[in-house]
Amino acid sequence: MSRVWNFSAGPAALPQAVLEQAQRELLDWNGSGASVMEQSHRGKRFIAMAEQAEADLRELLAVPADYAVLFLQGGATQHFAQIPMNLAGPDEVADYVVSGHWSEKAASEAAPYLRVNVAASSKDDGYLHLPARANWRLDPRAAYVHYTPNETIHGVEFHDVPDSGDVPLVADMSSSILSARLDVRRFGLIYAGAQKNVGPSGLVLMIVRRDLLARPGRPMARIFRYAEHAAAGSMLNTPNTWGWYLAGLTLRWLKAQGGLAAMGERNRAKAARLYAAIDGSGGFYRNPVEPASRSRMNVPFTLHDGRLDAAFLAESEAAGLLALKGHKALGGMRASLYNAVPPEAVEALVDFMGDFARRHG
Ligand code: PMP
Repeated sequence: MSRVWNFSAGPAALPQAVLEQAQRELLDWNGSGASVMEQSHRGKRFIAMAEQAEADLRELLAVPADYAVLFLQGGATQHFAQIPMNLAGPDEVADYVVSGHWSEKAASEAAPYLRVNVAASSKDDGYLHLPARANWRLDPRAAYVHYTPNETIHGVEFHDVPDSGDVPLVADMSSSILSARLDVRRFGLIYAGAQKNVGPSGLVLMIVRRDLLARPGRPMARIFRYAEHAAAGSMLNTPNTWGWYLAGLTLRWLKAQGGLAAMGERNRAKAARLYAAIDGSGGFYRNPVEPASRSRMNVPFTLHDGRLDAAFLAESEAAGLLALKGHKALGGMRASLYNAVPPEAVEALVDFMGDFARRHG
């Protein structure tokens, strides 16, 4: 068996210990004689596992009791649409802060359901920095303020939670959830596709203040209404049982790593190591993002000569470094450094980059 160092942006690396446990348990989960995928979500074994996963998530993030935790489906993209349906009526307005590809998409997918106010955007500057909080034009009547703390493609990240006053803050944490400590109280609603820091795709985690679940929203089928999912313990219909189980294993693994304080420090150090290598390469490698806005999770970079890209990708793959090709919107390279990417992977990448630059410089 040969595992590589995996820098995929998502679906992304999972902790090896989690995969090994899932492998051991695949045929006979928990003494049941069947895999976790082959049994009812209403069975006592599954319910116990599901409740433990929620308890572990609550413990890791210190989620207050007046917040519901939901295990949903549809990917973050479906919730770009479902959030406005739930939190606002058709005549209401919501503020969107646009800081990269994903927040731009969140705003455009919300537009059929309410009035979108783009309160700030760094698009004209190529998303190379965050829109400064002082220049946001928030609407005081807004139903919520939406932003994307970490932009997976553009590699920009908010390092502080912006102040939205009394208006609930809604955050797409798909590529940053559980990567460091977080004060959940600052948010009205947090949501995240699982496939970067938590588990496989097909699962969405949501943490939502219960008073927001009481908002009437617009008329819609029950399956779209978060309050219904909360009342049914995220089992309004058959949940993604496999995803929930793997997320549960990952949450337990996170606790064993020392929780989010330890992960936060480890992630900070990993990113600092890679940015230092890029900035110290004498221009061979380049990350164009303003240093204060740089992401700890996704590091896009280019080579000084794009004609070397193909060689970089082929040689890195041969060296056991997977998925460094950048998103097609930006070209170049991208290294994603989620929780399950160990410091050794970053060391291997930095060594490879130094060696490549010497050979091709
Ligand atoms: N938001 C962010 C920040 C993302 O990184 C992604 C996926 N890369 C999405 C939303 C879309 O997620 P999904 O494919 O699960 O709908």
